[in-house]
Amino acid sequence: MARALFPSLADFLFPRYCAGCGRRLAVTEHLVCPECVFKIARFNDKNSIFDRLYRWDVRTPMLHVGAFASYHRRETAAHLVHALKFYNKPEIGRWMGQWAATSMQPEGFFDGVDCFVPIPLSRTRRRERGYNQAELIAQGLSAVTSIPVDTSLIYRKHDNTAQTHVNLTDRAANVQDVFAICPDAQAEGRSVMLVDDVITTGATMSNAIKLLSGIDGIRLSVFSWAAVP
Ligand SMILES: [Zn+2]
Repeated sequence: MARALFPSLADFLFPRYCAGCGRRLAVTEHLVCPECVFKIARFNDKNSIFDRLYRWDVRTPMLHVGAFASYHRRETAAHLVHALKFYNKPEIGRWMGQWAATSMQPEGFFDGVDCFVPIPLSRTRRRERGYNQAELIAQGLSAVTSIPVDTSLIYRKHDNTAQTHVNLTDRAANVQDVFAICPDAQAEGRSVMLVDDVITTGATMSNAIKLLSGIDGIRLSVFSWAAVP
């Protein structure tokens, strides 16, 4: 309220900073400065995502597969994901989703999708963080596309977050059985787009795809806000 009435005074008393580069935001700027928006590297190599999924034995035909931003350490996309995951900034997640959807909807990327299904966190992790970052991104996608978010399809049984420290074979075992289908899930015949914040090896996404691909008549798509090139 105070910020709406006295934006410049509020900005003077409570300066806001760009989540991408850390520079102070002008009164008219919101969350991320125009330079960071302009500089973001789009991810255009969807074949590399197919390759990663294939390496985890995913053989399911997919409707859409893609990522919005290219994830490079110390660059804008990485800073935004980091702020979202570790600095308690849920509003950035929705904004990131809206930004991606505004850019990708005209390309037809969400055509034929019935619902967004964010990759779930375990209950413990969600409690620690206060939110699921993938769910916030999905809410942002939904705000632009009017496609609903469905969190009642799958849940995460346990964390496999130590996976950066284990080798590829161990990881394969580690991601087995991470997710399960909710008892009351309604997924037969639906077109489901899985949503995550970052795709690295594709192991987590592959696990969710393999679980859901057993459902009758389901069509699957993959969206990640960012992908490691
Ligand atoms: Zn910036």
